[in-house]
Amino acid sequence: MSKTHNIAVLKGDGIGPEVTEATVKVLMAVQEVTANLKLNLLYGEAGYHCIAEHGTNLPEETIALIKRSDACLKGPMTTPETPGAPVSVAVTLRRMFNLYANVRPCRSFPSVEALKPNLDFVVVRENTEGLYSGVEYELAPGVGVALRIITREASLRIAEFAFKLAEKRRKHLTYVHKGNILRITDGIFKDAVKTAAQKHPDVAVDELHVDAATMQLIKKPETFDVIVTTNLFGDILSDEAAQVTGSLGLAAGANIGETYGMFEPVHGSAPKYTGQNRVNPTATIMAASMMLDYLGEKEAAAKIEKAVLNVLKEGKVRTADLGGSSTTSEMSEAIASKVKSL
Ligand code: NAD
Repeated sequence: MSKTHNIAVLKGDGIGPEVTEATVKVLMAVQEVTANLKLNLLYGEAGYHCIAEHGTNLPEETIALIKRSDACLKGPMTTPETPGAPVSVAVTLRRMFNLYANVRPCRSFPSVEALKPNLDFVVVRENTEGLYSGVEYELAPGVGVALRIITREASLRIAEFAFKLAEKRRKHLTYVHKGNILRITDGIFKDAVKTAAQKHPDVAVDELHVDAATMQLIKKPETFDVIVTTNLFGDILSDEAAQVTGSLGLAAGANIGETYGMFEPVHGSAPKYTGQNRVNPTATIMAASMMLDYLGEKEAAAKIEKAVLNVLKEGKVRTADLGGSSTTSEMSEAIASKVKSL
């Protein structure tokens, strides 16, 4: 008996609605051609555009809707940068639903220019603490402090997640830190990784300081399999990795907890491209594939991935970030019709 999956869909701000609608088109196509796949999309309001009406970027009704769902497909959202303004919706949801593992696959795509061929690694980022704890003070005018909270519990949890992932892949894990400067906080993180390593003797372990890691990602990206790191370092490294492997417009991310998953593109709301039907929807479409995989719909997830790879390989439909002139809707139509023809 097939189960209906309730999916919370948050379109977001800027280019969010365009890339999310493009993705829904692909989800409808895969539902049409996959026996027993039933998706019930529950649309919720969240993001910068909600603040004027609701006084918050994450209204209570949206939180209730997310609680009724099995997973969330989230478009990118604009985050106000003034002190005291509502904090990022992504950060709030990650904390609220304890989505502790941010998983960002970084891979080469066919016919897409990358720094090196055949790249395939994953950045696993701790998602609930670090410099994203949001605890900041202005001690005196012009003197600010941000707390970088690192706990043994969260570090062990993310290390264990990364080791398990490495075991399913090429059994190589690199942990990235700045322990030479942040001796206490990254000392806790390093100890946790070493503790977790004892349970996974089949995984080869390397370590890098974050500055060296940014360089190594450019120089020898093929040496990585699974990278595990703290919150801010993981955010920066995964944007860099997206460009190393092709384009931010192709990079998808999963936010995974014990009981819930939220899926989104790595990129933000790119406000300058709003409403231009110009950006690449593939990152969000690949996030939807990761979501179906998480929901146990392996066949549907694989169909979307295969369709994306085929469309990119053919190279007839390419958005501007990939050197082409196709629109967002042309890209999603090409992927949706490829899904139907597989
Ligand atoms: P951004 O990722 O929105 O855009 C940076 C640049 O990347 C763009 O100018 C564009 O050149 C390129 N780009 C991004 N997405 C693309 C796509 N789909 N196709 C082609 N090119 C693409 O980063 P930013 O400018 O630093 O942030 C804009 C807003 O997004 C900010 O308010 C930020 O806080 C927010 N943001 C939200 C999330 C999220 O919702 N998870 C993540 C990152 C940034």
